[in-house]
Amino acid sequence: MEDCIFCKIVEGEIPGSKVFENDKILAFHDINPVAPLHLLFIPKLHVTDVVEAMNEENLLSDLFAAVKEYIEKENLQEEHFRLVTNRGAAAGQSVFHLHFHLIGGRGLSWPPG
Ligand code: AMP
Repeated sequence: MEDCIFCKIVEGEIPGSKVFENDKILAFHDINPVAPLHLLFIPKLHVTDVVEAMNEENLLSDLFAAVKEYIEKENLQEEHFRLVTNRGAAAGQSVFHLHFHLIGGRGLSWPPG
C-alpha cells in the first residue's frame, strides 16, 4: 500500500533490520525499542489491524506460526516476554499495518498505560 512504512520495509524500499522472513511474514527490530528485545512481526499483506486480519483466512495463524518458529530458534520458550498488538490510535496504534510487538529482556509491568 502506498505510503505505508511497513509495506515499504516489505518491498525493501526502506531498510528494516530483519530477523525472520518467509513468504507471508516478516519480523524486524523496532526502530525505537522499549526493551532489550523489541521486534515487530507483520504480515506482508497490508492489513490495517487485528480486526481486519480476522477476515483474512490463515493470516493470524501464519503470523503466530512465525512467532513460534522464531522463539524456538532463539530458545525463548522459557523466557518471559510480551506479545501484543495495539488496535486503534486510542490504544496506541501509530502504524496502520498490523504488527505484533514481541517485547522482552527486562521485567515488564502490568497494566500498560
Ligand atoms: P504501534 O504504536 O503499536 O503502532 O507500533 C508501531 C511501532 O513501529 C513503534 O514501536 C515504532 O517505533 C515502530 N516503527 C515505526 N517506524 C519504524 C521503522 N521504519 N522501522 C522499525 N520500526 C518502526
